Amino acid sequence: MDSVTGIIDKIKTLAKEGEKEIVDLRRHFHMNPETSWNEVETTKRIVEELEKIGVENVRSGFGGTECGVTADIVGAKPGKCVALRADIDALPLNDEKDVPYKSRKAGAMHACGHDSHASMLIGAAKALTALKSELKGKVRLLFQPAEEHGIRPGAKALIDGGALEGVEGMFGIHVMSSIPSGMLEYRAGPFMAGADSWEATIAGKGGHGSAPELAVDPTIAAFQIGNAIQTVISREVPPRDTAVVSIGGIKTSSYVFNIIPDRVEMCGTVRTFRPEVQDSVEAALVRLFETIGEACRCKVDFKYNRLLPATINDGNMTALAKSVAEAALGEKNVRESELVMGSEDFSHYGRIVPAVFVNLGTACAEKKSDMPHHSPKFDVDESVLWQGAVLHAVFAWRFLEEN
Ligand SMILES: [Zn+2]
Ligand SMILES: [Zn+2]
Repeated sequence: MDSVTGIIDKIKTLAKEGEKEIVDLRRHFHMNPETSWNEVETTKRIVEELEKIGVENVRSGFGGTECGVTADIVGAKPGKCVALRADIDALPLNDEKDVPYKSRKAGAMHACGHDSHASMLIGAAKALTALKSELKGKVRLLFQPAEEHGIRPGAKALIDGGALEGVEGMFGIHVMSSIPSGMLEYRAGPFMAGADSWEATIAGKGGHGSAPELAVDPTIAAFQIGNAIQTVISREVPPRDTAVVSIGGIKTSSYVFNIIPDRVEMCGTVRTFRPEVQDSVEAALVRLFETIGEACRCKVDFKYNRLLPATINDGNMTALAKSVAEAALGEKNVRESELVMGSEDFSHYGRIVPAVFVNLGTACAEKKSDMPHHSPKFDVDESVLWQGAVLHAVFAWRFLEEN
């Protein structure tokens, strides 16, 4: 048995022994969900668990709140520092599942699986701590609040709070209800889209529906702009690139059959995978809104908001994650992912340290764990959670051995 297989077996044994605790903890978080930037009790419970395990440098409270935890597992041998990340927030939804561990709070539910992420990482921390005397370097644990927030991402708050100081590589896992249980998907380079939003006010001059010549109709500008921005993807983005421009809403200042409104508001989103494409889509939207608005005699106020960068996986880190997954889950349970149009604030970490984010399948029709993320019946196949802990721990171990 070589040392790699040896350590995987040891970690697997430890994680499997801790499986019940991992599942119980996931259920605790599931029953007591807290939405973005409200994860106060979740944070307290994580700190308690980490203190039981005996990790070092526990720091909690980020972004001026009481939410979020970082901690270190310090190995007996000198080495580098690798970070493992779990997000911990729930969503503002009512849990519609009929299970004993259903959410006990109205208007809050772990519908993205972040409860599993937190418990998997605690499982990994326990296994790694048990092997501390053989561990080279340091493992930084990040329990991150507010992944779902969008506007005030928890990842950014942790980075600003110094969570990545000394870190030279990073790994994150998301459970995924669209991938079969126990299957891992990876992708090197661009993986998940960057998400931006835009909003515009098109101001004209209101008037009587029977006398358009006395008004400046902003709805006509809105229609033309709405059509024209569809050509940004088809005519301006290179066909080999992927991007989306969508309109989320159009609102007129009045809604009466014989009144020409004086104002139209519009909003929407843009998804891109490469900074160059993001720049060119933003510039095209600004140009089309302003020039078409002007051509229609309207005054346009356009605002583009860069919310989340694209998640771009480092090549070497992805290769490491793939080989760890193949060794831990078996080669047939590891496959390349397609581009994912959803977004993740994990992307912020990848801009600072070499990082990789992977998806671990939890879909099992029998266990009803194949409902879409963010749906009120979302659930995870808990039999996969200990494997998530194994992946975290082995990934950290291998990174520290090889770097
Ligand atoms: Zn989510
Ligand atoms: Zn999520």
